[in-house]
Amino acid sequence: MGMSTELYLEGLERQEIAEELAVEARILNRCEWHVGFTYQNGWDLETVYRMAAWRFKRGQIPGPFRSQRELTDAIEAVVVDAPMACPRCEKMRDED
Ligand SMILES: [Zn+2]
Repeated sequence: MGMSTELYLEGLERQEIAEELAVEARILNRCEWHVGFTYQNGWDLETVYRMAAWRFKRGQIPGPFRSQRELTDAIEAVVVDAPMACPRCEKMRDED
């Protein structure tokens, strides 16, 4: 496996973990029909940062995070990138 592939997979793993934390903190909603899709639910990033920091210090965060900063950066990225609604649902609504 090449270095770039490894980095790519590491990024995906980080993204997945960050997304899971954001869903748990209710910053993101997971679509009940499309499990792979999340969308924005709130902007209270402090809550999810606190939760992430707490768990990071206890070693409860799986995955390739070398620092707490990396973890919060990943969380911020998934929240900022998240759509306002599930893209699949939107598409289905448009096709009606
Ligand atoms: Zn959906």
